Amino acid sequence: MDDKLLIQMALGITPPWYVKDIDLNVSKKRMDIYLDFTKGTKFPCPVCNKLCDLHDTKEKVWRHLDFFHHETYIHARVPRTKCDGDDVKLVEVPWTRQNTGFTLFFEALIVAMSKEMSVSSIAELINIHENSVWIILAHYVEEARAKMDLSELDTIGVDEISVKKGHSYVTLFYDLNQSRVIHIENGKKRSVFKNFREVLSRKIDPDNIKYISMDMYPAFRGGAREYFPNAKIVYDKFHIVKMMNDAIDKVRRKEYQTNKDLGKTRFMWLKNPENLSDREIAKIRSIKDLDTKTAKAYRFKLGLQRLWDIKNIEVAREYLDKWHYWGTHSNIKEIITLAKMIKRNSHGILESIKQGISNGVVEGLNNKIKTAFKRSYGLKTEKCRNTMIFLMAGKLRLPTRC
Ligand SMILES: [Zn+2]
Repeated sequence: MDDKLLIQMALGITPPWYVKDIDLNVSKKRMDIYLDFTKGTKFPCPVCNKLCDLHDTKEKVWRHLDFFHHETYIHARVPRTKCDGDDVKLVEVPWTRQNTGFTLFFEALIVAMSKEMSVSSIAELINIHENSVWIILAHYVEEARAKMDLSELDTIGVDEISVKKGHSYVTLFYDLNQSRVIHIENGKKRSVFKNFREVLSRKIDPDNIKYISMDMYPAFRGGAREYFPNAKIVYDKFHIVKMMNDAIDKVRRKEYQTNKDLGKTRFMWLKNPENLSDREIAKIRSIKDLDTKTAKAYRFKLGLQRLWDIKNIEVAREYLDKWHYWGTHSNIKEIITLAKMIKRNSHGILESIKQGISNGVVEGLNNKIKTAFKRSYGLKTEKCRNTMIFLMAGKLRLPTRC
């Protein structure tokens, strides 16, 4: 088989296109492949699809996947059709898309690598500019998002994550039916719900949303009520336990002033007993013996967590009432405040149990996002940041040609 034909097959080039010439420069580690089309071929007008005569051709070059460590470029003269109705147009060629200097295979490789590698590492590895990588990623993310099917969406999760070392926040909206991020808003004000509703309404009727699962942050509650009046607000276990953990830590910090035993124990109280190491159990036992408020607050958390094991809603309601009674009689300010807040919002908590709605999956997605953020410390713009979030947690249908 002749080498041109071999390369033609490897590239998947089909008539009227063919490999006209190959130039391999071993010292420069570079391969240039020249394509051409059979003389006299008519091409379809990209607008109306009618076969047209050619007006002229434009010389173009695209970076392709390396062939055995040789940077590879594809060259071709791309025809411009002369259509009666649509004037002069550049035709679409099968190995690339419009306005890019890369082949589809090359771009698919970049998209695949972006799941595991930082953009700067990809750029270095394949020897292209970082900005070019970002432009490619943003293109495919936008394209896939436009095709995102939300027709089955009825349960939404809302959560905020900190960006820029904790000084600013973005609010993420999740499709809890399919465990994916579907929308990103800057900040965590009430108005994020207004914007989300507007964006959502381009795809589905926002009044189809039945449940919104979130924490008890007042701006979120207000936003959800105002812009999704038909949806029920639910407070899931993940968020309630998080509030409880925050309360325990407040108690511990205060108590640490008079009891230095509580130093370096912050992360122990976040865990359930079955996840504690032997050393941690011994430590907790020794603290418990001192009958600290922190240990007491921890027992309140374990008690509250049991709520989600109860499947009968009436039994759960009675249990929650009892827990509220214990909490308000705990003599621990932080637990009393939390118990009152939980009582006020018990309807949303019980609804999460009844419907089996949990933001638990959100935690996993957020961890993925945080890992990607750590990896790409060079997230310079908002667009780069959002592209990365959707890549990691958007469950998008991205090209997989390589
Ligand atoms: Zn046309």
